[in-house]
This record gives sequence, C-alpha cells and structure tokens, in this order.
Amino acid sequence: MQFELSEEQEKIRDVARRFAAEEILPTLEEEERKHEFRPDRVAKMGSLGFFSCALPEDLGGSGMGFMESVLMAEEIGKVSASWRLPFNMQNLGPALTVAKFGTPQQKEKYLPGWIAGTQLGFFAMTEPDTGSDVASMKTHAVDKGDHYAIHGNKMWISQAQVGDAGLLYAYTDRSQGNKGITAFIIEPKKMKGCTARAIETKLGLHCAPTGEFVFEGMQVPKENVIGKPGDGFRICMWQLNQTRIGCAAGALGVAGGALDLAIGYANERKQFGKPIAQHQMIQAQIADMVVEHQAAQMLVYRAAWLKDHGKPNQYETSIAKLAASEAAVHAANECMKIYGSYGFSTEYPAERFYRDAKSLQIVEGTSNIQKIIISGMATGQTPNRG
Ligand SMILES: Cc1cc2nc3c(=O)[nH]c(=O)nc-3n(C[C@H](O)[C@H](O)[C@H](O)COP(=O)(O)OP(=O)(O)OC[C@H]3O[C@@H](n4cnc5c(N)ncnc54)[C@H](O)[C@@H]3O)c2cc1C
Repeated sequence: MQFELSEEQEKIRDVARRFAAEEILPTLEEEERKHEFRPDRVAKMGSLGFFSCALPEDLGGSGMGFMESVLMAEEIGKVSASWRLPFNMQNLGPALTVAKFGTPQQKEKYLPGWIAGTQLGFFAMTEPDTGSDVASMKTHAVDKGDHYAIHGNKMWISQAQVGDAGLLYAYTDRSQGNKGITAFIIEPKKMKGCTARAIETKLGLHCAPTGEFVFEGMQVPKENVIGKPGDGFRICMWQLNQTRIGCAAGALGVAGGALDLAIGYANERKQFGKPIAQHQMIQAQIADMVVEHQAAQMLVYRAAWLKDHGKPNQYETSIAKLAASEAAVHAANECMKIYGSYGFSTEYPAERFYRDAKSLQIVEGTSNIQKIIISGMATGQTPNRG
C-alpha cells in the first residue's frame, strides 16, 4: 500500500491549487454576488488540461487517471464549490460516457469541445417529479423515422441554460421498464423544440448555472443515440458512478477549505485573553474536522485508485461520496460556529461554504441513496461493479 502521490500528481495538484488562488479567488466574491458564470474560465481550465484526465490519449485525453482529476477537483473545491462543477459537466459526465459508449463519429464530433472546455456540457436525468427514482422519468422520445422527437421536462440541470452539447436520458419504450430508457447527445441551442431556463432561486453554488429544459418535440437525429435504444438506464448508472467521484472530490475540497478557514480564524481571534484555538472546545471541534476530512480523503483517493486500476468500485465510490459530503457539511457548520457572528456575515466566506456544502448531500444521489447502494452491496444483495 502506498500513501504518497507521485511527483507528477503533486505537480498537477499544484497547477490546480495555483489556478484556484490566482484565477478564481481574487474575483470570486464579486462573481458570487452577481451570480456570474464565466465560460472563459471553463475554456481556460480546459486549455490547462483540467478536463482531459481519465481519457486515453488516442481520444484527445491526457492518459492520466481519475486520481489526477480528483486532485484537481479537490483543490478547486477548496476555494469554490461552484467551480468544481465543470469537472463533471465537461469530463467525468459527458466526455467519459461518450468515450466509453459512443460511436467513433460521436467521439470525433463531441469529445474535443468538452475536453477543451469550449463546448459547455451537461447531463440531464432529473425532472420535476423524478429525482432519486430515475426510472420514473416522464420525458420520452418518439421514433420519427430519421430522428426522435423528445417531449418532456428536465429540471435542476447544471449548465442547462448555457449548455452546448450534453447527455439526455429519455424513454423510447415505456413498456420495457428501465430497459426502455435511451441515452442521447443533444445540442439544445441548435436542435429545434428545446427551451432552456435558469433556476435563479438556489441557496448556493451561485457561480455554477443550474437550469431547466422544456422539450416540445425536440428533433434529435438517430445518430445521436448513445449505445442502443434501451441502454440508457445502464449508461446512466455507469455515468453516475463516474460523476459521483467528482462530487466526492469537490466535497473533500469543501471540507478541507472550511477546515483551513476555521484554523486560520481560531488562531487569530482572541477571547478571554488568548486565541480561541487555545480553548479546549474549539480544539475538539477542529480535531473532529481534521479526522473526518482525512478519513474522507483516504476514501476518495481509494475509490479513484480502484477506478484507475479497472477494479469494481461502485461500493467504494458511494462510501467516498457519502463520507466526503457529510464531512463537508459538518466542517462548514463547525466553521460557521468558530467564526461566531462573523460566520453569519456575507462579508466572510464561512457562510458560502455552508450554503454550498448542502448541495453535496443532494447531487449524484442523495446521502440516503448512497446508504441504499452501500447497504445493498454490504449485505450481498447487489454486486459491486466498475
Ligand atoms: C445544485 C444542483 C445541481 C444539480 N445538477 C443536476 C444535473 O446536472 N443533472 C441532473 O440530472 N440532476 C441534477 N440535480 C438534481 C439532483 O440530482 C436531484 O435533486 C437528486 O437526485 C435528488 O432528487 P430530488 O431532489 O428529486 O429528491 P427526491 O428523490 O424527491 O428525494 C427527496 C428526499 O427523499 C429521500 N429519498 C428518496 N428516495 C428514498 C428512498 N428510497 N429511501 C430513503 N430516502 C429516499 C432523499 O434522500 C431526499 O432526502 C442537481 C441538483 C442540485 C440541487
């Protein structure tokens, strides 16, 4: 067993750490206030290779792995949970899925833009009445000969209103249950019959756009089906197991970022004649945060390692996602407490970490859904897959 990063992995982590410090942090609070999304920053991240990990070189990737992607997402997440999202929307979601299940033509047409960060990606399964129970979706595709006509709604889709090309899951044959769901690549700005709207009421992640799609007979060419009609549910579950590690890495970043803030403040703030870091209860709070953060880190790195070694990892990925997102929420909560009144002020970043952390318990399967996956595999009722 090895607990050290390679020299190359350390370099990659440092590139992301510098990017977060120099390119995100200086303008972040202003962008947060304006709910500003910066497509130019996604492209810059792409140009630095942030979205090419875990993709083979012959498909335009860097040939590195999930571990490298995790290290970068963690560093970005430490500074901004919003800016961790493009790892999923560009690479771990659309690009990896099309690289695994797509046709050579689909790979040639779509992978370069997602990797470069110039074609904004997304993946759409959630609907107004469909969340955890993905197979209960209502969106459906009608076979029109040379194309499908899509009808329905998708809700809570990251990058929907800015998206150029992404993944859509819809029924093509409802009589087949979840084996009647099909995965498509859609281009909402180009394909007729699609409207996208922003969701403006989010508690946090203010620099990460989230929106809704309305499909009124949107025309999708047949060559945009990923795999075969009916493969969509299997593809969707595979995709969630990849994007879940991105979310876990982001959560790790949030837990680490909140811990750093709490330590900084505890050393600075004096009450009762000494820094609050010297009060035993603050020390206990910080020790709990350290332990949870480091435990989550080991779990997230283990899941990434298993993915990079082609071993079954759904179980370990769900454990990592659950542990990291719960650690993030707890760390952000403790950080708020340690900041006292200043934690309650929007002039300090503690409250942003708190608001953003809550999203991590919801996306890529809620904490309850992770528990269902984990317990199903722990009790031998479902197999652990890759
Ligand atoms: C910021 C943000 C970004 C998002 N981005 C995307 C995206 O890019 N693409 C996308 O498709 N979706 C996205 N989502 C949607 C997200 O994946 C769903 O919200 C999530 O899957 C939960 O679904 P739901 O909100 O409908 O909750 P529900 O499924 O309705 O669950 C409600 C509550 O019931 C619990 N619950 C549900 N079923 C069970 C069960 N069987 N046992 C025990 N408890 C259960 C849940 O844990 C939760 O606490 C995003 C959401 C947010 C907030």
